[in-house]
Amino acid sequence: MVKPFMPQLVYYEPNAITYKLGEELLDKFNDLGVEIRKTTSHNQVRNIPGEGHLQQYRNAKSTLVIGVRKTLKFDSSKPSAEYALPLATGCMGHCHYCYLQTTMGSKPYIRTYVNVEEILDQAHQYMVERSPEETRFEASCTSDIVGIDHLTHTLKRTIEYFGQSDLGKLRFVTKFSHVDHLLTANHNGKTRFRFSINADYVIKNFEPGTSPLSDRIDAAKKVVDAGYPLGFIVAPIYLHEGWKEGYRNLFINLDEQLPKTQRGDITFEMIQHRFTKPAKRVIEKNYPKSKLKMEEEDRRYKWGRYGIGKYIYQKDEEAELKDTLESYVDQFFPEAKIEYFT
Ligand code: SF4
Repeated sequence: MVKPFMPQLVYYEPNAITYKLGEELLDKFNDLGVEIRKTTSHNQVRNIPGEGHLQQYRNAKSTLVIGVRKTLKFDSSKPSAEYALPLATGCMGHCHYCYLQTTMGSKPYIRTYVNVEEILDQAHQYMVERSPEETRFEASCTSDIVGIDHLTHTLKRTIEYFGQSDLGKLRFVTKFSHVDHLLTANHNGKTRFRFSINADYVIKNFEPGTSPLSDRIDAAKKVVDAGYPLGFIVAPIYLHEGWKEGYRNLFINLDEQLPKTQRGDITFEMIQHRFTKPAKRVIEKNYPKSKLKMEEEDRRYKWGRYGIGKYIYQKDEEAELKDTLESYVDQFFPEAKIEYFT
């Protein structure tokens, strides 16, 4: 059992206190006796204590910044949604292959936004623009939002907001099991609650600081009981010795644990392991002892946006991964929908 996240140090930006949530969070961390510092700088990294890169990186991941989201232009979030919903950035987890290491490289601390109502108003604008089409929002593009929400309840507010919306859908994914406060949210079936899952070997070796698989599955059971549409993202699908058995065991485990009666609406998304050259450099710097295999010559190069290509598995390996994983879904969850394999 991984304990729910509690920051060691909290920074707050001056404007944050003018929002109700900012005030509530300050009171909360004061009561909890967490060290609180004021900051005027948007970029906190130079203030994070610690000697040397690794210590500072670790400390940053237990530092929470209470801030205000100024840019209210949302990024796109293909293939799973039209827009990324910015509620927070950063994560306390230590997954070696975490995408945030490159996207948020210079800001590894966690930053939560207190101007939630302004963010939701902006989401409303996007929905109006696309009307009468539905608009999907992905809330986990820049953080593992569930992992911090027991402190802020920002996600809970957002779930309830979309619960009242006609044309908006919300989705997010998590590797954390601290979902209890979300079970009572009035979601009205508009939120797809997804868990990131993987073979034992992958979770044990590459996902320190996140909830173990058994806890994620327990949380998924609670979520489905609370009536949420449920999904799983199997990612990154990683070739390792005994991978076929490892992933098969994962599906056996899921099949044994999840109620048989509520499976019609489960979705699966599948993402094979990939890396870019810049990501490899960052991973080697942040997790120098990692066993993660990233040999360019073993992989196939795929051109990407902004000229930064990624290294994915060779064609035959990719086909075998896809066929194998899809056959497990067909075998154990024939009613479920595979949204994509990429
Ligand atoms: Fe990154 Fe997700 Fe792991 Fe957090 S839980 S470190 S966001 S991969």
